Amino acid sequence: MSPRFQAPRGTFDILAQEWGQRARVYAVAAEIFDRAGYGRIETPAFEDTDLFARGVGQSTDIVQKEMFSFEDQGGRNLTLRPEGTAPIVRAYLEHGMQKLAQPVKLWHWGPYFRHERPQSGRFREFNQIGAEAIGSDSPLVDAELIILLDELFRGLALPGIRLRLGSLGSADSRVAYREELKAYLRGRQKELAPSVRERIDLNPMRAFDSDDPGTRQVMEEAPTMLERLGEDDAGHFNAVRAVLDRAGIAYQLDPTLVRGLDYYTRTVFEFESDRLGAQAALGGGGRYDGLVERLGGRATPACGWAAGIERIVLALDEEEGGNAIDVFVAASPDRRERAFALVRELRRAGLRAELDLADRSLKGQMKQADRLGARAAIVLDEERPAQLRDMASGEQRELDLARAVEELGA
Ligand code: AMP
Repeated sequence: MSPRFQAPRGTFDILAQEWGQRARVYAVAAEIFDRAGYGRIETPAFEDTDLFARGVGQSTDIVQKEMFSFEDQGGRNLTLRPEGTAPIVRAYLEHGMQKLAQPVKLWHWGPYFRHERPQSGRFREFNQIGAEAIGSDSPLVDAELIILLDELFRGLALPGIRLRLGSLGSADSRVAYREELKAYLRGRQKELAPSVRERIDLNPMRAFDSDDPGTRQVMEEAPTMLERLGEDDAGHFNAVRAVLDRAGIAYQLDPTLVRGLDYYTRTVFEFESDRLGAQAALGGGGRYDGLVERLGGRATPACGWAAGIERIVLALDEEEGGNAIDVFVAASPDRRERAFALVRELRRAGLRAELDLADRSLKGQMKQADRLGARAAIVLDEERPAQLRDMASGEQRELDLARAVEELGA
C-alpha cells in the first residue's frame, strides 16, 4: 500500500461537522458589520515579501522568523500573508480609496500563515476575522471598533471575556520614551533573558511581552509609555475611554500592552478569554496612524483589529450543532426514481431532505434516517400507499404525496 499523507504540522482540516460553528461566527459578524456600514474586502493569500518587511516591521518576530516566504518561478520574493492589515492598506492605496469618503470601513475573513511552534490554539495556518477603518483620527473610530468586536463576542455569547486597553502614544513621543526604556533596560541587563537583552536596541518594548521571570520582574518597575503620553495622545486616549465608559464597556488599563507588530500607535487593545489557557488572546488591534505613509501613501490615520477564528471556536465550547434533517425519503427498489424526484421537490420547498444513496434495504434506510436525526421519514413502498412517520414517536400514517410539503410544515 502507498504511504498516506497527513496535513502539514501546525495545520488542520476543518471537518464537515465543524463547519456549523464557523458559519455561525461568520453570520453574526456579517450582520454586525453590515449594520455598522463596514464593507467586506478580501486580498490575496500571498503578497510581495517587502510589504510585510516594511509594513509589519523588520524587528518583529513575525518578520524575523515566522514568515512562509518563497521565490516564485519568475524570481519574485513572495510571502504567505502573516497578517491582514498591511495587505488592506496596500489595497486601499492601489485602488485609490483615499478618494472615497473617509474613513473607509472594511472587514475581512480568511487564512493567515505564521511559522510558530504549534500548540493548542496556535497554528501555522489559521483564520482571522478583522476590521479596519482607514482615514480618520477620531477617537470615536477606536471606540467603535472595540465595541464591534465586543458585540461579536456578545452576539456569540462567549463567556469569560476580558478587555485590556493601553496607548503607545504617537511615533514622535515614542522616540524619547524608547530611549528612556533602553537606558533602563541596559542598567538592569544582567537580570534580563538573553533574547530580550539582544533586542534592547532593536525593539525594547517587546521586553514587556517576555515570559521570563527575571525579565518580568525588571519590567514591573520599568517606566511605561502610558505614563509618558504627550498632551495630544493623552487627550485622544481619554476620549476613547470616555466613549467606552459611556457605552458600558468594561476594560482593564494595561500599560504593558505592546502587541507584536511595529505599526501600532496610540490606542492598543486585546480581548482575552479565561477559557483558553496559555493562548488566551482572542483578538486585538489598535491604531496604526503611520502605516499608510510607510507603505507609500500620504499620512493617513487608521485603526483596526483582528481576531482568531479557531480561538473563538475553542472559547465557544459548545456542543457541535447537529445537522439534523427535516425528512428522509425511504423507498423500495421500484420507487427510487419517485423518491429522487420527491426529494428534489422537498428541497426546493426549503426542507432539508435526503434519500438513500447506498442501496440499503428499507430497514437499513430507516436506520440511516435515525442516524441523520431526521424529524420525519416518508416511506415509499410498492406494497402500500406512501407513509409519513414521525421519527421521535414512531407514529405512522398514510400520506397524500401531493400534500407532502404542507404536511411537513415547510
Ligand atoms: P495578531 O495579528 O497577532 O494580533 O493576532 C490576532 C489574533 O489572531 C490573536 O488574538 C489570535 O486569536 C489569532 N492568532 C494569531 N496567531 C495565531 C496562530 N498562530 N494560531 C491561531 N490563532 C492565531
